[in-house]
Amino acid sequence: LNTTGPDPVHTTCPYCGVGCGVMAYSDGGTPVAGDKDHPANKGRLCVKGASLHETTGQEDGRLLFPIVRGRRSEWEQALDEVAYAIQDSVKTHGPQSVAFYLSGQLLTEDYYVANKLAKGFIRTPHVDTNSRLCMSSAVAAHKRAFGADVVPGCYEDLELADLLVLAGSNAAWAHPVLYQRMKASARDGRRVVVIDPRRTATSELADLHLALRPGTDTVLFNGLLSWLADQGGLDQAYIDAHCQGFDNALASARAAAPSVESVAEQCDLAPEDVETFYAWFAQTPRTVTGFSQGINQSIAGTDKGNAIINSHLATGRVGKPGAGPFSLTGQPNAMGGREVGGLANTLAAHMDYDSPGARSRVADFWGTGAVADGPGYKAVDMFEAVHRGDIRVIWIMGTNPAVSLPDSARVREALARCPTVIVSDCVAHTDTTDLADILLPAAGWGEKDGTVTNSERRISRQRCFLPLPAEVKPDWWIMSSVAGKLGFGEAFNYKRPADIFREHAALSAHENNGERLFNLAGLANLSDAGYEALIPVQWPVMEGAGVEAEGSTRLFSDGRFVTDNQRARFVAINTRLPAQQTSDDYPMVVNTGRIRDQWHTMTRTANTPRLLTHRSEPYVDVHPDDMVAHQLKEGHLARLSLGDGGYVGRVRKSPEQRRGEVFIPIHWNRQFASSGVATLLTESVTDPVSGQPEAKHGRADITPF
Ligand code: SF4
Repeated sequence: LNTTGPDPVHTTCPYCGVGCGVMAYSDGGTPVAGDKDHPANKGRLCVKGASLHETTGQEDGRLLFPIVRGRRSEWEQALDEVAYAIQDSVKTHGPQSVAFYLSGQLLTEDYYVANKLAKGFIRTPHVDTNSRLCMSSAVAAHKRAFGADVVPGCYEDLELADLLVLAGSNAAWAHPVLYQRMKASARDGRRVVVIDPRRTATSELADLHLALRPGTDTVLFNGLLSWLADQGGLDQAYIDAHCQGFDNALASARAAAPSVESVAEQCDLAPEDVETFYAWFAQTPRTVTGFSQGINQSIAGTDKGNAIINSHLATGRVGKPGAGPFSLTGQPNAMGGREVGGLANTLAAHMDYDSPGARSRVADFWGTGAVADGPGYKAVDMFEAVHRGDIRVIWIMGTNPAVSLPDSARVREALARCPTVIVSDCVAHTDTTDLADILLPAAGWGEKDGTVTNSERRISRQRCFLPLPAEVKPDWWIMSSVAGKLGFGEAFNYKRPADIFREHAALSAHENNGERLFNLAGLANLSDAGYEALIPVQWPVMEGAGVEAEGSTRLFSDGRFVTDNQRARFVAINTRLPAQQTSDDYPMVVNTGRIRDQWHTMTRTANTPRLLTHRSEPYVDVHPDDMVAHQLKEGHLARLSLGDGGYVGRVRKSPEQRRGEVFIPIHWNRQFASSGVATLLTESVTDPVSGQPEAKHGRADITPF
């Protein structure tokens, strides 16, 4: 690779979980191009990816120097301050008074160092991530069904499927390149069913759009299981040979969804549409069900995921070409964070705290004698603990929880009263950095070096092609330096990201004789040159596979899972409707989500004028009948309110909405539109299994503004 001449550097897009390969140039200003050799995108980029060069090299708005309590500082002093705050809090209040809140934007190497420092050395289990907000329900569903957090298939399956079911996914906007692949693979006889309360851009691909009542997905999929059983649509041989718990799951399904008519009534769908979906599913061996935030962001998110997986297990459609459940992950490295243990309920390398032998295995590998006593607080609970004063030092990296977490006014309050808030970021002013006591300038895309893992388990390199500006440092360097100040330097003596990656891969293989699926043994001895040249590879990567490995395209194809008895688990699902129900005071259901051209809280994408042309301001999609009922005018402002919370947006007439339901975008932060922050309206209600917030079903009153 030539990182200084005119040749492009092969790297990976830092936005969504598709994980597209990008060819970028060392001047930072030359337009980027899609990498034809990358298996995820084969040369394609969406408009966000194609605008990446417009977000690099911007010294305006960058955090360029450490800042301690409002004053520019030297690194030495800033690192001392961080170390002292942690040390003092541990001494006075115990290790559990310290928390780390990470991000799917971090590279796997950064995540690994954070997890090791927190759980192995400071001994706090309170490590969680903004990935909690996007895919933790899918993680929990995978673990319950398969015994591990595993997406069994690959992107190619979405093209091979003869029936593509997209549940709670506006892939056309949220995973644009994957959607382009689905569209391009259309052929005679290929059918698409979109399950979404809204008619979105993705619905244009649909042969059947099921605009179901929000929150009733488990009823629809329980009904499918029940219907398959009644109509002879089960693969009984597969169930008998490879699964457990089927009878209980079927009994629950029959109780929750006894007939097509009952499903239609509960889901507010036409019975013939429900029957058509069920018949297509039964008839089509090559069926993939892609699911995303419409499934995950719910108090029943884990159950919804398992209801989908149940239908696939019942028909023997897991891990086969063109067949399987497929979780579409939101962020560029949500998967990589999961791999190192970046969720509060996991320990490291896909091992949970209660996985047999995990604590001693990890402690032995890290040489620490013991690890934190976990699990720790999940995201929403973590900030509640900050609010209570139980957590007194929080280190936030590469994310903006003062905008992105539900009930963000309370999150701001929590941070304002926290004795020490440390924030590492590449942006100087966000709603969260403005509340920091210590600000640490971190490297951004193009400046940092490491790996990310996309939705199909594919590990790709993000490569550095720009110099670090001013005093900016990579996250792994910042954390390792703090570890040194805390007296743990020997265990964090990394010289480069390759050192960390090798250690991460070795931990995945440590005392792993095949009982744990996550295994990067084949990458544990990569040379620096091998790491630099690493081609995109799907895990697991077994011993002897090396950098040229194809990895593991599909898992569980042989019907052997990673539960104790190698059988997949059906999960009995009962109906649990959304917690935030409408009332006379709050008659509208509020759905929140992404728009096509913005990313998260807009701290980067808002710097690109062309990305603002798609939607330039906060808005609210309202059905025409609701506009009449609530005296709203198109193009005028409307206010959504709930208690003290409110959101103001411009009204868009949207027959695509169901009556009584509105949609608002999640992106605007207080810097761009102080009254257009969606999380000022959303409540902190979470799935009891996954801890994922119910972001798809809020409630509010709506009035002209
Ligand atoms: Fe980046 Fe996702 Fe667009 Fe690919 S689809 S270019 S990963 S934002």
